[in-house]
Amino acid sequence: MKADLIFQKYNEIKNNINLLKEKYNLNYDIEIVAVSKYSSLETIKEFLSLNLDLPLAESKAQSLRDRVGEFKDFKNIKWHFIGRIQSNKVKYIVKFADLIQSVDSIEIAEIINKEAEKNNKIQNILLQFNISNESQKGGFNLTDYKKVYQNILNLKNIKIKGLMGVASNSDDSNLIENEFESLNKIYNDINLEFDKNKVSILSIGMTSDYHLAIKLGANMIRIGSGLLVNS
Ligand SMILES: *Cc1c(COP(=O)(O)O)cnc(C)c1O
Repeated sequence: MKADLIFQKYNEIKNNINLLKEKYNLNYDIEIVAVSKYSSLETIKEFLSLNLDLPLAESKAQSLRDRVGEFKDFKNIKWHFIGRIQSNKVKYIVKFADLIQSVDSIEIAEIINKEAEKNNKIQNILLQFNISNESQKGGFNLTDYKKVYQNILNLKNIKIKGLMGVASNSDDSNLIENEFESLNKIYNDINLEFDKNKVSILSIGMTSDYHLAIKLGANMIRIGSGLLVNS
């Protein structure tokens, strides 16, 4: 049964998280986001039958819309959006996402704000930073964090919950750790500087690097291939 396999993967990840929490003496929760972007509807159904109560994440606006519709009978699913945001798709994303993790420009934030206002909603977001400095990846420049944060704070229908980053796709764990560390530093700096508008989510780490992310302060990890297996 596929659900059994998913449950086994989930337990391995939970065990690893607990071991890492002990190893690094961490006393806060680390939330797993189940990235469903590669998964068939069948796999997602099996996953939902386990009632693990994890948020699901999609990276395309159309898939988000379609899948929210597909699973509307399952109450209380939280949906995250983690992909590049095109301005003409913002309406679907704001309508269906509990948390948009991939806000990476002021212009997009302004469009989200307008759309949220129309929907009578406060949209929770994370600011995505380009920690790997790869031009094909999304994300704000690390150096602009203060200006970006201050600007987006002024948007009334947006609530900035935290920061998100995607590390280089590399075997070099030092490189990946440095990238995670750079975002951890900004996370701490923001919370010192904007002490009335603190953030609480540091979303770093995926299947291949979540152990490094947890070492560097992740309290949210986004797991796709390591959890929602299709076969
Ligand atoms: C696809 C994706 C993930 C999950 O990747 P896996 O390596 O399958 O765990 C996490 N975060 C983002 C932003 C993604 O696009």
